[in-house]
Amino acid sequence: MELNPYEVAKEQIDIVAKEMGLDPNVTRYLKRIERALIVSIPIMMDDGSLQIFEGYRVHHSTVRGPGKGGIRFAPNVNLDEVKALATWMTWKCSLLKLPLGGAKGGICVNPRELSKKELEKLTRRYATAIINFIGPDIDVPAPDVNTNAQIMAWIMDTYSMNKGMAVPGVVTGKPIEIGGSVGRNSATGMGLYFVIDAMCEKLEMKLETQKIIVQGFGNVGGWIAKLLYDRGCKILAVSDISGGLYYSEGLEIEKLLEWTRQGNYLKDYNDKRYKLITNEELLTTGCDILIPAALENQITKDNVNDIKCKIVLEGANGPTSPEADQILFKKGIHVIPDILANAGGVCVSYFEYVQDIHAYFWDLDRINKELKRILIEAFEDVYEIYKERAIPLRTAAYIIAVSRIAKAFDLRGIFP
Ligand code: GLU
Repeated sequence: MELNPYEVAKEQIDIVAKEMGLDPNVTRYLKRIERALIVSIPIMMDDGSLQIFEGYRVHHSTVRGPGKGGIRFAPNVNLDEVKALATWMTWKCSLLKLPLGGAKGGICVNPRELSKKELEKLTRRYATAIINFIGPDIDVPAPDVNTNAQIMAWIMDTYSMNKGMAVPGVVTGKPIEIGGSVGRNSATGMGLYFVIDAMCEKLEMKLETQKIIVQGFGNVGGWIAKLLYDRGCKILAVSDISGGLYYSEGLEIEKLLEWTRQGNYLKDYNDKRYKLITNEELLTTGCDILIPAALENQITKDNVNDIKCKIVLEGANGPTSPEADQILFKKGIHVIPDILANAGGVCVSYFEYVQDIHAYFWDLDRINKELKRILIEAFEDVYEIYKERAIPLRTAAYIIAVSRIAKAFDLRGIFP
């Protein structure tokens, strides 16, 4: 049965609430979202037909600052998924001490079926529909699954045209030419890299000798595969929605990146040494570090007993179910949770937002240094609690993130 991500998100709150003895009133409050907008997006298609898509923007919590979180375009997007993703953004920003809340948006659409013109219309109409819900002081969207810098540029332009002035700080992940930040594209991958490097050091594992499997070959999976490949790791398998490729001696990642950059699917790549595998097979293939970097609910009670790795590094949001989490913990497999592992993206988004507001831009060296500093600080905080209490890394990360939200809630009080 398909797990509902929002039910998962709420179960995770219950787990941490129990562990830290959280006030039941705060727990109840955290399990609610502040607000949600559902919008209809009518588009006149190139063939003259009218299609109506459904879009969402959810604010889970703005108690620590304006909402922050991506927008995804995917066929399975629904309100509960967006609510879960917004909730996870709250914890992610809090864990990193960013002065931002949690938000997320999405449109239920398969963008591969749209022309560029249709995609632009869809984006601009969606941006118009949520215009009063977003803004530098309200909620700042960013890219997520199947969205990119061009889509952020259309949102920034639509918002700016309506306001009658340029407002670069309304979205992050923009092209550099219109207020984007250097290093934003690689940020999630870089963050994963800093975190796994730190974890390997703690476990006295040499990162460059580890065997890696990556599910997902988009902005997150593609970057982390490349960074680890450049480090010397063997990348045994990678996959996209079409399926995966496996080679026990290690895949040539640069060639595969070039192939997918041209719009091709991995399954069509021609190298006789590589074996075609399914996404399900990929997850249960033996390796040292397994990196789910695609969608939620990939490691569940159905396949958790077949997972054969030392570390799961969550590039995606919500790839592991709470039940699977428990089993992995019992088996001694370390799960580096999404809210820490993949937080590099929102961290550099925050840098982009700060740069836009100050109209002063940093160089790549500064971006990566500050990214590393913030992530390693969060990693050390999480690791300390994990060691102290002998609990899963996710619960340790949640204790920190949830405590900060609870504290802010307490300080602000209940209005009126
Ligand atoms: N979509 C990314 C995430 O899930 C980035 C969000 C952002 O940059 O605001 O963390």
